[in-house]
Amino acid sequence: MREGWRNLFAETPSVLKSPERSKTIVPIRDFFIGGDAFVTMAGPCSVETETQLFATANAVRRKGARILRGGAFKPRSSPYSFQGHGHEGLKMLSRAREETGLAIITEVISENDVELVARYADILQIGSRNMENFTLLEKAARSGKPILLKRGMVATVSDLLRSAEVVLNNGNPHVMLCERGIRTFETTTRNTFDVTAIAVLKQISHLPVIADPSHAAGYRELVPALARIGVAAGADGLIVEVHPEPDRAWSDGDQSLSFTEFDEMMDSLEPYVALQSRKTKHTSHEPKLEALV
Ligand code: PEP
Ligand code: MN
Repeated sequence: MREGWRNLFAETPSVLKSPERSKTIVPIRDFFIGGDAFVTMAGPCSVETETQLFATANAVRRKGARILRGGAFKPRSSPYSFQGHGHEGLKMLSRAREETGLAIITEVISENDVELVARYADILQIGSRNMENFTLLEKAARSGKPILLKRGMVATVSDLLRSAEVVLNNGNPHVMLCERGIRTFETTTRNTFDVTAIAVLKQISHLPVIADPSHAAGYRELVPALARIGVAAGADGLIVEVHPEPDRAWSDGDQSLSFTEFDEMMDSLEPYVALQSRKTKHTSHEPKLEALV
C-alpha cells in the first residue's frame, strides 16, 4: 500500500488487507458474498403492503436476485414522510422469505431495535445517516448478523473504514461496505456516485464492497449505468430499489426501477459481471454448492 494511505488508514488495521487476510467471504444462508458469485440485493425502498412486497420479491428472484431489500424502520429526510411499518414490516419480510427463499436485508436505525430486527433479518443494514453511530454499530455487531454498512453522505473512505473497524472489534467479521453516493456541489443527481471509493476499497480492504446505484443517482433512468460502472469498478454485489409501480411508491419512487427496467438492467450487467468472471444468475434449481468459493 502507498505510504500516504498507510498513515491515512493507520487507525483501521483490522479492515485492511494483510498477508494473512486478503478477502472476507460473508456467509448468508446457503450462499456467500465476496466470493466468486456476484450477488444482487433488490426490492422496494420501504415495505408498504404484502402485495407490493411479494410481487417485487418474485420479480427480482426470477431475474437472479438472492436477497430481498425493504425498509421496515425508515430513516427519512422529512419528519412528515412515511416512517415504516416497524415490526409488522419485519413480519412481511419474513413471510416473503418463506415464500421465495430470498434472504432478507433490512435497516436497523436504533440500538433498541437490534434484537428485534436481528430475529427477522439475514443482514442488518446500517444506513448512511447512522454510519457513525458507534453505539448502534456495537449493538448490531454483537447480534452476530452480517452487516451492510452504508457510507455516510459526508463521510470519507477512512471514516467508513473506522466504522467498519468498530464492527470487527466487537467480534463480528462479516461486514460489507456500501458506496451509495456522497454529497458534493453537484445537484443534478441526488448524490454523486463515488466510484473511486469502490476501486480504492477493493485495493485496500479485504471486506466485500456493495454498490448502491439507486441512492447515488436519485433518478431511475441513471441507475443501470451506475450499476454497470459499480460492477466494472470491482463491486462484489449491488443493492437496488425496485417497485411494482415506482411512481406510486411511498418512498424513493423516483429512483426505483420497474420490474421491466430491473430485468433490462440485469441483462445489461451480464457482460460486466462476466469480465470479473462472476455470475449474476442463480436459480433455485442450481446446485447450492455452485456458489461456493
Ligand atoms: C435505503 O436503503 O433506503 C436508505 C435509506 O439508504 P441510505 O441510508 O443510503 O440513504
Ligand atoms: Mn431508499
